[in-house]
Amino acid sequence: MGLGEISELCYRITESYLQLPNRTDIITETKDAIRLTREYLLDDIFTRWSPINGQISFSYNGGKDCQVLLLLYLSCLWEFFYINGKTSQFDYEYQKFPMKLLPTVFIDQDATFITLEKFISETSQRYSLSLYESRREVSKNQNMADSFRDFLKIYPETEAIVIGIRHTDPYGESLKPIQKTDSNWPEFIRLQPLLHWKLASIWSFLLFSNEPICGLYGVGFTSIGSMESTVPNPYLSKKGNDVLPLQFEWEINNAFGKEKEGETKTVHVSNLEESDQEWLATVTDSDYYPGWYLIDDSIERAGRIKKG
Ligand code: ATP
Repeated sequence: MGLGEISELCYRITESYLQLPNRTDIITETKDAIRLTREYLLDDIFTRWSPINGQISFSYNGGKDCQVLLLLYLSCLWEFFYINGKTSQFDYEYQKFPMKLLPTVFIDQDATFITLEKFISETSQRYSLSLYESRREVSKNQNMADSFRDFLKIYPETEAIVIGIRHTDPYGESLKPIQKTDSNWPEFIRLQPLLHWKLASIWSFLLFSNEPICGLYGVGFTSIGSMESTVPNPYLSKKGNDVLPLQFEWEINNAFGKEKEGETKTVHVSNLEESDQEWLATVTDSDYYPGWYLIDDSIERAGRIKKG
C-alpha cells in the first residue's frame, strides 16, 4: 500500500466511525472529537501549512495517541486532496496522490521496548512514513529541545510539527491546538489537534479501526515511556483488583472490515517480543487486563514511574 491507498483506508475507517449509531456515550463523544480534529486539520492547518512540501512534520513514537492522530491526519490528507482533486479540471482518477511518504520524526532517547521499536518500524512501512530517527547515543545525553534542534538542522523546511498530546497529559492542560514553541525551544509551530480527546475515545476509535496496535498495550500498558520508567498499569493487575468490565466489546466485534474478513473477534496487537516478556517477568508476577480496560484519564499514567 502506498501513502495514497493507506490515506484512503484511513478516510474510510473515519467515515465508518462517523456513521456509527450513537450506541454509547463514548461513541457519541468520540464522533464529536473526530469532527473537531478534522476541522482543525482541514480548515486551520492544511490551509496555512502545506502538507506536501515538508513544511509539516509529524512526531511519532508508536504510542496510541499519535497513532490515533496519524489515522485522522492521513484521513484528512485524503479528503484534502480528494476534494481538491474533484474540483480540478481533470478527473480525480487520472491524478496521482501528491505525496509518496509522510515526513515524520521520532526522538529515540532511552532504552525502549523492542516490541515498541519493531512496532514503529512496521508501522513506518504500513503508513508510508519517512521517519527521521534521532541517534540514541546522542539524544540520551540531551533534552528533547536539543534533539528537535538537531532534527531542524537536517530538515530546515519544517515550519510546524504535529504532536499527539492531550489536555490530560502532563503540562497539557493549558495548551492550544496551534501555538509557537516556548522560548527555550527551537522555533516551530506546535500543531496539537488531539488535545480535547479523552482516553475512552482513543480506545474506542483505535479498537474500531482494526489497525494493528503496539503489543505492549495488550499486556496492561496504558502509556509507554522508556523501559526504565514504565511498567504495566497497576490498576489493570488481575491480582487484588475487582473484575474489570470491557467497555469496547461492540467496537471490537464490529471493527472496520471485520464482517468481510470473517475473522475472529480479536484485537490486532503486535507481537510481544521475547526479551520484553522476560523483562516483564522480572518486574511483576501478575497478569494484567489489556490497556483498553482502563478509561479513567486520571490514572492513565499510573504505570509511568518517575526516574529517581
Ligand atoms: P502513550 O501515552 O500511550 O505512550 P503517546 O506516546 O502517543 O501515547 P504521549 O506519550 O503522551 O502519547 O506523547 C504525546 C505526543 O508527543 C505523542 O503522541 C507524539 O506526537 C509526541 N512524542 C512523545 N514522545 C516522542 C518521541 N520520543 N519522539 C517523537 N514524538 C514524541
